[in-house]
Amino acid sequence: MQSDLDRLATYLEPIFQLFYERLLSDPHFSIFFRGDDHVRDLSIRQRESLRQAIFEEERALEERYVRLGRFHHNHYVPYADFALGIDFLVQEVFDILREDPTIGLAVPAIHQFFRQIKEYTAKGYLDALIEQDKHDQELFLASIRQSREAVAGIIERHLLWLRQFAKAVEREDEELLPDLDLDRSELQRWLMSDEAQQYVPLQADRSHLFDLNRRLFTDASNLFYFIKHRHYGEALMLYEKVNRYLLTLNNAVTVFFTRFKVQELVRDPLTGLFNRKLLDDTLNQRVRLAQLSRRPFALVIADIDDFKGINDSHGHLTGDCVLRQVAELMQRYIRSSDTAFRYGGEEFLLLLTDTCAAGAAQLAESLRRAVSDTCFDCNGLRLKVTLSLGVAEMTHEEHPRQLIERADRHLYAAKHRGKNCVVHHPTDAGESANGQPRPQLPPLCPQTDLPLP
Ligand code: GH3
Ligand code: MG
Ligand code: MG
Repeated sequence: MQSDLDRLATYLEPIFQLFYERLLSDPHFSIFFRGDDHVRDLSIRQRESLRQAIFEEERALEERYVRLGRFHHNHYVPYADFALGIDFLVQEVFDILREDPTIGLAVPAIHQFFRQIKEYTAKGYLDALIEQDKHDQELFLASIRQSREAVAGIIERHLLWLRQFAKAVEREDEELLPDLDLDRSELQRWLMSDEAQQYVPLQADRSHLFDLNRRLFTDASNLFYFIKHRHYGEALMLYEKVNRYLLTLNNAVTVFFTRFKVQELVRDPLTGLFNRKLLDDTLNQRVRLAQLSRRPFALVIADIDDFKGINDSHGHLTGDCVLRQVAELMQRYIRSSDTAFRYGGEEFLLLLTDTCAAGAAQLAESLRRAVSDTCFDCNGLRLKVTLSLGVAEMTHEEHPRQLIERADRHLYAAKHRGKNCVVHHPTDAGESANGQPRPQLPPLCPQTDLPLP
């Protein structure tokens, strides 16, 4: 028998009466009860259960409340509600016992008794949760093992780690714990690798994952302290956090890998620029935005001059090397709100947000000059190439496709004018103001003659 507790047993009826009055008057708790009969029945059963617990040995008390914790978990009662309910009950106990002058000596024992109830119930919740997680883990493991993606390996090892961790907690056996040394954490080592920089390019994102992983390891390492001291309430909270961190990490890693895969689909592998798959959508979206915001919008098509000659003289790999460097140069010249595409073999297309024809021509001319001034170094071979560029500004009536066609005509005109130049004006492209082609083109367009603003 629990010492000093027998007097408590004599007061259980008024205590439970107060307790249920309070629960039923609180809309948060009243939803757990279904009508008067249910309340009466529960009240009698709980009162009797508590009366038996008062006279029980600790081992039996533990079993009783572990069972009760499992039961509540399986009936969707959150542990926080259960624990608060016990706090209410303790308040009712002292409200009633205040009237009894002989109760003073029993106060520590009463507190200890209710604390045990809370801890053992938490243990029941923890056991039930681990049991439930096992099923989910096996399901995830089976599905991840069917995946051939690189990310699957990391996720599978995470799930195996979690399964091992849950087993150690369930058996309360520290020997069974997986490696809890953060410095040996696979994710931490991966985050510091070159591969991670590719998949998670932003330092801030990598730091966030790093931080989550650190929290995971800290909480996992601390959990056994609470189990050893039989503080199952805290152990339950930490177990839930470890689980959440690990699943969040798995989700985040999956999101970054998926994002990378999607990016790969729309990127040209040689230059890293966007490929044509994304062009139509992006162009339509930018044109629409420009029309709505009544801001100018321009497009540039650039083509490397006599590129076939580079391939023929120095081989395809050298040609590839030049393409990569021209693309890099373009990326450096445009603003972050602009987008560069590899449009064809040695053709590039730039979408320039909030840019009018004059601004676009200026950028095109800077780019042309930068390319013609650069000596591209390909394995020690120093090469010079030039660009021809056609520029067009959006007019509000035309379809986005027509904008590309116009820039293309301007590029064609630049080639006709002798290459290594920019054409951005309809008359330069041999068109009349109404867009009809002019029969005669001047043979050359010396760059110095360009009417740049
Ligand atoms: P122009 O000044 O009229 O533009 O002449 P060009 O030689 O640049 O144009 P042409 O269309 O005759 O040739 C383009 C060449 O670009 C032919 C093709 O082999 C090459 N090319 C296209 N894609 C690639 C690529 O990915 N790598 C390499 N190395 N060459 C490519
Ligand atoms: Mg070319
Ligand atoms: Mg071409």
